[in-house]
Amino acid sequence: MNIHYHVNSLIEYAKEHLRMREDDVLFAKNAVMNLLDLHTDTMGGEETPDLDRVKSADIPDSFVRPLSDYAIEKGLIEDVDRGLFETAILGAVTPIPSQVNDYFKKDLKEVGQRQALLNLYDLGIKSNYIKLSDVRRNVYWRYKGKKCDLEITINLSKPEKDNKEIARLKNAPATGYPKCMLCEENVGYKGRVGFPARQTLRFVPIKLNNEEWNMQYSPYMYYDEHCIIFSKKHTPMILERATFVKLLEFTKIFPDYIAGSNACLPIVGGSILTHEHYQGGGHLMPVHFTQPRWEFKHKDFPDLTFYVQEWYNSDVRVVGQDIQRVADGAEFIRKIWIDYTDEKVGIISKTTDAHNAITPIARRIGSNYSMDLLLRNNRVSEEYPDGIFHAHPEYHNVKKEGIGLIEAMGLFILPGRLDKEFGAISEILQGREIDYKNPESMLKKHERMIEELVKKHGTSMSKEESVDVIRDYVGQVCENILDNTAVFKDDTSGRDAFLRFMSQAGFEKVGE
Ligand SMILES: [Zn+2]
Repeated sequence: MNIHYHVNSLIEYAKEHLRMREDDVLFAKNAVMNLLDLHTDTMGGEETPDLDRVKSADIPDSFVRPLSDYAIEKGLIEDVDRGLFETAILGAVTPIPSQVNDYFKKDLKEVGQRQALLNLYDLGIKSNYIKLSDVRRNVYWRYKGKKCDLEITINLSKPEKDNKEIARLKNAPATGYPKCMLCEENVGYKGRVGFPARQTLRFVPIKLNNEEWNMQYSPYMYYDEHCIIFSKKHTPMILERATFVKLLEFTKIFPDYIAGSNACLPIVGGSILTHEHYQGGGHLMPVHFTQPRWEFKHKDFPDLTFYVQEWYNSDVRVVGQDIQRVADGAEFIRKIWIDYTDEKVGIISKTTDAHNAITPIARRIGSNYSMDLLLRNNRVSEEYPDGIFHAHPEYHNVKKEGIGLIEAMGLFILPGRLDKEFGAISEILQGREIDYKNPESMLKKHERMIEELVKKHGTSMSKEESVDVIRDYVGQVCENILDNTAVFKDDTSGRDAFLRFMSQAGFEKVGE
């Protein structure tokens, strides 16, 4: 196959899957040819694309890969720039932002919000902004927890950097542009060493609480239809009454989606605190399948119902018909929680820093609006220098990073290195001798886990059996980590303390 066959195939792919219009075809084809430094016209003959192959494609990989192969072979790019180059190629055949906005507006009117979202999501996948072939490599399983199923994935979709790239990264100058990974100015940016190419990024504008915001899908896709909702302005994360309004209004526009915000403190928050943003998506999380433990009423909020959910983290749920009222109820609880101290159970709201925070998650339940408020605290102590209400040291071999919004909802994103390490542990359980106690070994940190598993199951398991017991063990660890993060523990003293908090806030338990 010559290069023109591949160029023509990509154009056919874009017409079929990226909503490329007929009057843009020549322009886009030239844009691709420019990137490949091609100067001859070719149509017909052996260059005619296989239209069946085009039609049945669900990702663009096999259409763009021959083009980057060609560019490397011709010396147009270096091996290490393949990713950036492929994004540039796909960017040239993806509709420009104004067109995507028009499509989205038209879809909202003609096919409804559900299908409009699915079309936008599909564009993200077909343009490879969401790298589905990488996401498909992720390992995923469910763990039957004592409260409900937890979801666990080992994230293999963020590629490991090779040495050549790391060396280039060291010499790359800091440009301060784009200001951060979430800023609007990323759109169309060609990327550089250590900063992803964004020619295929597309987002749509939405209005939340009368502010200009945008919505895009997440390139890492931690769950189905994982989207990022972000302010048009580069302004720091903040949690206030308006946050609740914005989260709830998002679920008014897109009733099938959830929307949650990370807390604004380290350890209990997300990785980007400099740009106001939320996580959303079309996937209900484990926390959404919980049952109420207690129901409450409050005299100032006769139109709202409050629940404490049977969840690992301390979860107060506010439910009502009206966005402003649910936001009032949520803000009422937030304000009390922020200053709440109960030394009996180790909750201290302030030392030199403030420690109490809230992780809110909004969603629709029928015609109602619901807001889960996960009560968090990030205080550290001598015994727990990484956080008292954080994964305890005995679980750091599985997860040491902050437990942010997504984990707190019951979906664990574990680092990619674990895939290889668990593979080696599986071999030990099948009888292979590996010196895991060696301080140099990647398995050293799993010593306790390995010894427990060997003691319980021996070393003559089948591969499948060993994978099952490892997944079970890790599921148990994730469950224990969530217990660690609970400010009110699920024991007598923790439950009493939770009731004390609710009662001090003026709540009356229903059914007593
Ligand atoms: Zn920013």
